[in-house]
Amino acid sequence: MGLNIYKQFLDQKVRSLSEEIDKLCERRRQQGKAPSFGKYYHPAIAVSCCTSSSVGKIGKGVACEPRISVYHCKIANLLKRKLGNVIGGKSTKTNCCYPIGQCAEPHAANNYLKVINPYINPETDLFFSTPYRPRTKGPIKVFKVFPYCENCRSTFLNCR
Ligand SMILES: [Zn+2]
Repeated sequence: MGLNIYKQFLDQKVRSLSEEIDKLCERRRQQGKAPSFGKYYHPAIAVSCCTSSSVGKIGKGVACEPRISVYHCKIANLLKRKLGNVIGGKSTKTNCCYPIGQCAEPHAANNYLKVINPYINPETDLFFSTPYRPRTKGPIKVFKVFPYCENCRSTFLNCR
């Protein structure tokens, strides 16, 4: 379990997603519009995800402020069960520094459920790309050992 044979496909998808995001943010910046992600034009991280049964269809997500209202109840329930607190709070079960629901991974899982298929099990069925930085269009190098944070590794079986 946890072996992500879809990584190459997903990484290709997240690279093109990152390029799209970069173009949008750059256009926004040139037009003098306010940053889209808090004080930043670019989201810190983008991720794509898929299931083994329909590999061609991907969920897309970027790291952004966690709002309970954007989340499908299946993701909200999964996060609560695994991390012991509500979306936007700090986990009571991990030492992760990120608020619950902020990462690109739960947003990508949420996008998959809402846009592609609400009947999957988000805990076990989803595979994730390497997290990418839309600004540099490169994989993140923040985490030396694991590409995913403790919260995401505790939430999704294949986030390893
Ligand atoms: Zn995470």
